[in-house]
Order: sequence, then C-alpha cells, then structure tokens
Amino acid sequence: MRLIGVTPFQDEKTGRFAVNHDYLDAVHRAGALPVVLPLIAETEAWDEMLRRVDGVLLSGGADVEPGLYGEEKLPVCGDVSAVRDAAELGLCRMAIERDVPLLCICRGLQVLNVALGGTLYQDIAAQFGGPLTHPRNDTPRDPVHGVRAAADSRLFQITGLEEFRVNSRHHQAIKVLGKGLKCSARAEDGLIEGAELPSRRFVVGVQWHPESLSDRYPEAQALFDAFVRACRE
Ligand code: MN
Repeated sequence: MRLIGVTPFQDEKTGRFAVNHDYLDAVHRAGALPVVLPLIAETEAWDEMLRRVDGVLLSGGADVEPGLYGEEKLPVCGDVSAVRDAAELGLCRMAIERDVPLLCICRGLQVLNVALGGTLYQDIAAQFGGPLTHPRNDTPRDPVHGVRAAADSRLFQITGLEEFRVNSRHHQAIKVLGKGLKCSARAEDGLIEGAELPSRRFVVGVQWHPESLSDRYPEAQALFDAFVRACRE
C-alpha cells in the first residue's frame, strides 16, 4: 500500500497537533495508507519524510504569514502559525524539486502558491469583494457555489466535469499565481479556486474541501483517486 503523508494543524494554545479525519478517510478510500506528518522545519527531516512517503497532502488550516509573500499583515488577516508555515513551505518546495506528488487543499493551495512566489488576498471580502460568500463554515460539508474547470487542466481531466459545485471554507485566496502555476478553476465570481503545476507529475491544488464531499460526490473522490494513482507510478 502506498503511504500518503498528511500535514496536521497545530493548536498553538494547547500545543496539540490535529487533523480532520475526512482527509485520512478520503486517502484510505482511494486505496492508500495516510500517515500524519510532524511539523518540523529542518531540511534533514523533509528529506527523510519524502524518502518514506509516496505523496504529500497539504491540508487546510490557518492563514499563511503575509510576510512570507512580501506583505504586511493586515487586521483582516486571521491567525497564523510560524511553525506550520516553516514546516510546510520547506516540505512543499522539496517535494516539487523531487517531483513527489502533491495534493494541496485550501490552505495547502495557498502554501503551494506562496512556496512558488505567489501572493494571497489576506481577506476576500475586504480585498476582492464579489457577490459570493466564500467563508461558509456554517455548511462545511455541502456545496455552496459553482466552479468552472479550465478545459485543458488536470482538474478537468480528473473530474470529467467542466462545471460543478463545491463547499467553501476560506476567507483567503490566490491573488497573484506563483511561478509555473496554472489556474485550473475559478468560482462564479472569478476568484481562483484551483491551481496546478503542469511541469510536475502531479501537483494539484484546490481551494475547496473535497475530503468533506468525497463520501457523496464522485468528482470529489476522483481527486484522491487520481492523486494515489500518480503516487503509484
Ligand atoms: Mn470558495
């Protein structure tokens, strides 16, 4: 069985690491064994982790420190985690360097973008506006808005759908795409909801939470299935 490393979030108050079990269930359903990775910001640790796992899933969580993309932190920006930022940015860059498959979800997509030199809206409502409400944490497991996949994207290839509906639990989003990233999906308001790195075997990011839809929506589980397939190649 292939091993998929999943990054957790850190509760800064209690010092505990945790991960929403939906991620582990979706990976397991795809036929791989999920393992939760420690948040260590050391080259040697990233090297060891990437030798042992067949793919990495960067999961959702707190905001990325705006200083890491050259901006001052605004009051509208949420909580950040320096430990997690350092651990995930390094792991992400090394995984890309070594062409280890990456599935990047919500914050994971934002980490991927920042790792490649991109920038973020620190708050969608304050800096982008638009008619949609993207932080819909009141209904985390249900589709709340549509996305349109680019016809030539990996995402479209995987889901087989040009348009579908997704859940939405983010107040931040990609502003300027990182180097080499291609926009794979946009919401109805034009906001970037997906990006991928065509130069690598499998580096796919989505702004929504397919792990919380994958037990009921085949196009959401298809992302995990395609990711695990890429990890077997
Ligand atoms: Mn959204």
